[in-house]
Amino acid sequence: MSAQLTLFADIPAPAKPRVRRVHPSVPEVPATAVPAELLRAADWILLNSSGGKDSQAMASHVCDLAAKLGLLHRVVIVHADLGDIEWENTRKLAADQARRLGVRFEVVKAEGGDLLARTVARFFKLKAKAEKEAQEQGLDPATAKIAPAWPSSSARWCTSDLKRGPIRKLITRLVAELGDLGRPARILNCMGQRAAESAPRAKLAAVEIDRPASNGKRHVTTWRPIHGWTDAEVWKEIARSGLPYHEAYDWGMSRLSCSFCVLGCEADVVLAARLRPKKAAQYVAVEKKVGTDFKHGLSMAQIIERARALDAEHGELRRPPRGTALSGYLGKKATRCYLARVERGRLDLAA
Ligand code: SF4
Repeated sequence: MSAQLTLFADIPAPAKPRVRRVHPSVPEVPATAVPAELLRAADWILLNSSGGKDSQAMASHVCDLAAKLGLLHRVVIVHADLGDIEWENTRKLAADQARRLGVRFEVVKAEGGDLLARTVARFFKLKAKAEKEAQEQGLDPATAKIAPAWPSSSARWCTSDLKRGPIRKLITRLVAELGDLGRPARILNCMGQRAAESAPRAKLAAVEIDRPASNGKRHVTTWRPIHGWTDAEVWKEIARSGLPYHEAYDWGMSRLSCSFCVLGCEADVVLAARLRPKKAAQYVAVEKKVGTDFKHGLSMAQIIERARALDAEHGELRRPPRGTALSGYLGKKATRCYLARVERGRLDLAA
């Protein structure tokens, strides 16, 4: 019996799954999904802006509703600055949109480098971990299998590190500004995600409590005001608002944020490589360093090859007329009116 006990004592106990405690005051489900009630209940209405068309349409739509309820003073637009990996002037554009909407604008930025620097740092961490585990199992560390360092749909650390984390810090700051309310502050965190973008996004709720971001001091409700919108509805809202949109759409990009998104479609990343060849080359250098492809099954080296082939076939890309993307949805006449409004820099929320 004692030999058996000794035997069991040598087996390490299985690691207990980490249970994250959520403050008991945090509700399980939102009290309402009615837009006006969500807005009225919020101490801060935080609009997440990547500078892309969806967050821009979401922002102008929510500002329109908030203005009608006299709540514009509670609105803050936040842009997570991704540095040089996002399209040029994205931050300036988000700031200009906030100015035209007449709301407060905040920029947050993650410490510790951009996506490329983080991918390299992550690679060395994963490598050290894999080698240590191999050694512990009596295997040759040189044969250790290292997990991919690039972000992916199953390891989307880019969003949590570069966007969600820094935005949570801003939420902490905004809550502190409110002082003691005698109750947890209510933050309405608005996102431009839409069901039409992808199957995983289609599964997201239009309104939900963000329990990991909530605690005894603040209750954070995530609201996706345009979750059910189509592409055409997004462009219609852009035309209605008169807010400028990023010129990358006129060039033909279907999405914004990082110029090269690990989740982006091939057409987008190839087009981005034609427009930003120097940045694409930096991704190739990181691919070499970390030993894996930037996108699952598609390397940046291949993307550049395809971009060069298109340049050879069609010549270098020429700047498209301003309004090209909008015109594809709403026609030339509506686009002319929209461009004139953008030019004037005016915004008539009631239009
Ligand atoms: S745009 Fe793509 S690569 Fe960039 S942070 Fe978002 S998911 Fe990650």
